[in-house]
Amino acid sequence: MILALLRERRRRRLRARPFPKKWLTLIQHHVVFFNRLSGNDRAELLGHIQVFLAEKRFEGCGGFAITDEVRVIIAAQACLLLLHRRTDYFPLLLTILVYPLTYMAEEKRQIGEHLWEEGSVARLGETGRKMGSLVLSWGAVRHGAADPSDGKNVVLHEFAHQLDFENDASDGVPHLATREQQLAWAEVMRIEYASLRAASESGIPTLLDTYGATDPAEFFAVSVEAFFEQPRALHARHPKLYAELRTYFQQDPVEFSAER
Ligand SMILES: [Zn+2]
Repeated sequence: MILALLRERRRRRLRARPFPKKWLTLIQHHVVFFNRLSGNDRAELLGHIQVFLAEKRFEGCGGFAITDEVRVIIAAQACLLLLHRRTDYFPLLLTILVYPLTYMAEEKRQIGEHLWEEGSVARLGETGRKMGSLVLSWGAVRHGAADPSDGKNVVLHEFAHQLDFENDASDGVPHLATREQQLAWAEVMRIEYASLRAASESGIPTLLDTYGATDPAEFFAVSVEAFFEQPRALHARHPKLYAELRTYFQQDPVEFSAER
């Protein structure tokens, strides 16, 4: 309790600190959605970035050097997920590992009932509930920051997984305040997930990335990418899914969407 109070006080002080000019310039140049936010949201986001950067460790991998540019551009995108809500700043996450481009990971993938495929796959990012870390490819991070409306953003995707972990499971359900919200969420996600799976199996084009048909956790992460990057389209084609995400995030990204 005392610790929580001290932490909250420290965070309040961090949020109130003047934001370094150099960092702001980096964000304005490289994180396109930032310039479309309202003045209040920009101020709130900068405060969250100060806390995020004070609390999370960054490590370069594969010869990659961490710079202020890397830290700030990742933080700005991750903290978009925190606006307007009480937040504990991704409490399970300690370290962010950054690779220059894609990185290779060993993977075993089921391709048939008794058939597994093993081998190296190129990845852009990953995180796990018990990892305490999150891995990102800098190439993918930069691309995600530069194009705010292609529906793909590796930072939003991986940090959405971190939000999913906040209720102690990796099940596509973040922390929801009320029982009513939980029931509504479960109902909408069940139907939307089933419909993405069906479309993916029959090859029907979808707005949501069919990677979301992997499992409910990926469905949530992919939905979050679409919610922030293609909100108009998501609202038009999946109004109930959009409404659940809007209630959870307490944001309406249509207001700052760069979609044409
Ligand atoms: Zn994922």
